[in-house]
Amino acid sequence: MRFGIIGNPLKHSISPRLFNEIFKMMNLNFVYDPFELPAEDLEVFINSLRQSDIAGINVTIPFKERVCDFLDWLELPASRIKAVNTIYKANGKLCGYNTDYYGFSESIKEFKDRIKNVLIFGGGGAARAVLYSISQLNYQKVFLVERSAKKREKLQKDFGYIQNLEIKEWKEDYILEILRGVDFVVNTTPLGMEGVSNFFPLRPTYSLKNKVFVDLIYKPELTPFLKIGQTLGAEIKNGSQMLIFQAIKSLEIWTGLKTEFKDWQKIYNSIYKLTDKS
Ligand code: NAP
Repeated sequence: MRFGIIGNPLKHSISPRLFNEIFKMMNLNFVYDPFELPAEDLEVFINSLRQSDIAGINVTIPFKERVCDFLDWLELPASRIKAVNTIYKANGKLCGYNTDYYGFSESIKEFKDRIKNVLIFGGGGAARAVLYSISQLNYQKVFLVERSAKKREKLQKDFGYIQNLEIKEWKEDYILEILRGVDFVVNTTPLGMEGVSNFFPLRPTYSLKNKVFVDLIYKPELTPFLKIGQTLGAEIKNGSQMLIFQAIKSLEIWTGLKTEFKDWQKIYNSIYKLTDKS
């Protein structure tokens, strides 16, 4: 069986190595290829999947929202999140799933009961999964900051059902005021991702003790966003567990196979030792 990932850029993505190594470990005759696509080729590529030998595809930055328009149907919770990171082909029809939601929810389980007031940076495909995940918890208030007015409007429309959600323009003064009162802070933007930037635009001058900072980025391990949190006393977590959990779920959707987190973790660790040396 053949699988893959579409996105742009894809250089940062560990998924091809992670999946191919797990296939090797499990003696599965499967392959997983990267397809870095220009934005204008997305529709043609997705349509070509219907006739191709590819059984399933992951979708990453920046296509998770747009890809929904080209699929035959969306499964819950993708249909509520309106973003897809996993496509499964059944009888030539393309079905969209969201395993980022599952991955994020599993990776933050340890903080679940402490999550009351939340600040989310960014409003793209991954932010939608995070927002939906938080909405399933016993939270009090969620703030989300996003630069684009168009995206803010669309988020408001799609997530209007979420109680106590405030979506605002990304402005430093507003963010610094909100940050004081929240206990759970999530970066869903690529700011700080290796190859994108080594900076996160946040300069709090007060303690962040008793807060949790979560970055969806997993490379570098200590991202600029997490460095800010750690320096000022917050607990931190990067996106590596989320990455593994969402991959486990994608593989299960495509093949029915249930794989062990610890096996993926072992491979993840070994890849990063290799990558770091090169
Ligand atoms: P996306 O749909 O393209 O969304 C990116 C978001 O980041 C948009 O809201 C965008 O805002 C914002 N952004 C980009 N540059 C910015 C800047 N300079 N200042 C402020 N906001 C900025 O991408 P995505 O699929 O959500 O992925 C986002 C990140 O999450 C990526 O780094 C990805 O690798 C990571 N991720 C990790 C996992 C995991 O398993 N660990 C899973 C999913 C995603 P604008 O609309 O204003 O451009």
